[in-house]
Amino acid sequence: MKTRLYTPGPTMVPEQVSLDMAAPIIHHRTPEFSKVLQSCHEGLQYLFQTKNPVLMLTCSGTGAMEGAVVSVLSRSTLTLVVRGGKFGERWGEICAAYGVPFVPLDIPWGESITAEQLEEALAANPGVRAVCLTQSETSTGALNDIKTLAAVVKKRNALCLVDSITGCGVHELRVDDWGIDVAVTGSQKGLMLPPGLAFAALSDEAWEAVKRTDLPSYYLSFAKHRKSWEKTTTPWTPAITLLTGLARALEMIRSEGLEKLWERHQNMAEAMRQAVRTLGLPLFPRVPANVQTVIALPEGLEYSRLSKQLFNVYGMKTAGGQDQLTGKILRIAHLGYLDDGDIVAGVSFLERALADVGWKVNSGEAVAAAQRVLARTPAAQ
Ligand SMILES: *Cc1c(COP(=O)(O)O)cnc(C)c1O
Repeated sequence: MKTRLYTPGPTMVPEQVSLDMAAPIIHHRTPEFSKVLQSCHEGLQYLFQTKNPVLMLTCSGTGAMEGAVVSVLSRSTLTLVVRGGKFGERWGEICAAYGVPFVPLDIPWGESITAEQLEEALAANPGVRAVCLTQSETSTGALNDIKTLAAVVKKRNALCLVDSITGCGVHELRVDDWGIDVAVTGSQKGLMLPPGLAFAALSDEAWEAVKRTDLPSYYLSFAKHRKSWEKTTTPWTPAITLLTGLARALEMIRSEGLEKLWERHQNMAEAMRQAVRTLGLPLFPRVPANVQTVIALPEGLEYSRLSKQLFNVYGMKTAGGQDQLTGKILRIAHLGYLDDGDIVAGVSFLERALADVGWKVNSGEAVAAAQRVLARTPAAQ
């Protein structure tokens, strides 16, 4: 059976990327590999829309979050952590692990933080020098408006750290223009690669903070990575194979163009959301990110039965909820290497699996709804 990943990481890997990664391994201290690195450097600066170096770390996305905390913050940096799901909470857990003092700003899961809420919290805590945000809160499906929020943070002269792990490569992200101080992502989300790499883009102000930090770090030290970056090399043995794939994936992103890529994700997401509404199912987040469609499962629609049916019978891998959302939501991701055909297929499988588990479905109605949205724009890519 053909298996398709409709999960918010890992995501599907393009055939050409897999083929490049299947080539015989090359050595990392060679001019040949420097070329790969150079191409990754340029591609990442385009992806993050920054003129500064974008660091490449051998770890999953969480490693870049941890690297950001230990390299940019200090024991005395009072930090505001916005928590509206598992990943917002993770920023706080990393701060706690390293003794960085933080104030939590909790919002209900599924909500997005508003500029007013952030302004209020910053006014109430004038000592705050850094703010940790999440662009796309993958655990709930909510989107946060980073452009507006970063402007609020900068007005207060605090550092703005953004987890864009599923935002990057899906939603508009402009590190330099928006005044973001740290943006991080990982390889197995919008970048269409296997897990194992993470990336961090820093502003000039964040690089100044790196010089002042009193927190211990070694493997994830951004200062060490920056030094090597300047020489188009890496401080340790890099994940050579994954970086070879990264160069190809970034080339694909560049040739599509960021605006088109954001628009493709917007269209695919709108088509899936329209299909879900047609099926009579409510969406969970108030302001949904284009990363995934998160369904609030109504009474009588059991998560484990539906997700098993989707996977075992149709090969469609989806994700569920964690913690307080366990059993309450179904997450259908559509980021990375997907096109209109994958959306139509996904909606079709969803219709059939719902009917299989006894949910009333008018066969073909949701597919038609998705088709109408997709047909409004020229076919993707
Ligand atoms: C996946 C994800 C992470 C964690 O990344 P890992 O690669 O699993 O370490 C963090 N934040 C968000 C928003 C994510 O989607």
